[in-house]
Amino acid sequence: MAAKIIDGKKMADALLDNAALKIAALSFKPCVAIVLVGDDPASLMYTKKKHDACARVGMESRNVKLPADATQREIIAQVQHLNEDPRVDAILVQLPLPAGVDEDAVLAAVAREKDVDGFHPENFGKLALGIGKIAPCTPKGVIYMLKESGVQLAGKHAVVIGRSRIVGKPLALLLLNEGCTVSVCHSKTKDMGAITRMADIICSAVGKPRLVTADMVKAGAVVIDIGTSKEAEKLVGDVDFAAVSKKASLITPVPGGVGPMTIAMLIENTLVCCENRRKK
Ligand code: NAP
Repeated sequence: MAAKIIDGKKMADALLDNAALKIAALSFKPCVAIVLVGDDPASLMYTKKKHDACARVGMESRNVKLPADATQREIIAQVQHLNEDPRVDAILVQLPLPAGVDEDAVLAAVAREKDVDGFHPENFGKLALGIGKIAPCTPKGVIYMLKESGVQLAGKHAVVIGRSRIVGKPLALLLLNEGCTVSVCHSKTKDMGAITRMADIICSAVGKPRLVTADMVKAGAVVIDIGTSKEAEKLVGDVDFAAVSKKASLITPVPGGVGPMTIAMLIENTLVCCENRRKK
């Protein structure tokens, strides 16, 4: 039977509408500062989508641009300036940063209470301990999609492909916190198919078209495709959608799956930062 498609766009639209109502009821506009260093076309496109979503829900978004040759010291100074600005509730540093800049040092400079992506080492540590208030946007969006689609997580075997700071690792931690048995695959994993075939839930975050093929998927599994790459100018995921959707029970498309949810979670996380800061 063909898999049911999880409509990330529809879920994200509902979340944005809800956020717009919440913001309209406030006496001030929450504000997120988006720091972009350089002019990488993909980063420009992602940050534009984030600013557009902020405008849609009535949130202020500050466009903080630095040239591609900005030094680490200059980037950190800008972040510290935003840390101290009482009108800024949340700070997002668009990754990747130019070669030669230590991302860890920049992310550790973001004030913990304004860390909208949850990448500060203390916030990431709290996520690992299951006591965090902020979870990185993409993994948080994946958990939301699974729950909203009625997937019971506790006791399920979830396989995460990818172990990056942005997606794979925090997603594995969130699934673990939800009571899943979690396996994490990466570029050094041997015989990945043997592991994914045991999975009730497969989440792939790599960026390689057709990495996940139908023979790697157990019948009835839930498949979340986080990866994005361009093939002949078309956005594609990691999953061989046509074949896998005949075997899975639930599947996300690319585009229209996880992508819009990442943006919706940025808005949610900005509101979380805003509430935490302003109730102090
Ligand atoms: P990344 O930092 O490049 O990490 C990719 C991960 O994939 C690494 O852990 C790598 O393993 C693993 N990998 C590479 N080749 C593999 C293979 N053949 N088999 C198994 N694992 C392999 O990328 P990222 O930032 O996590 O992003 C991953 C993908 O998600 C990208 O396509 C990105 O565009 C997409 N993404 C989408 C959204 C969205 O909103 N839809 C948001 C963020 C990212 P090693 O660690 O061993 O190198």
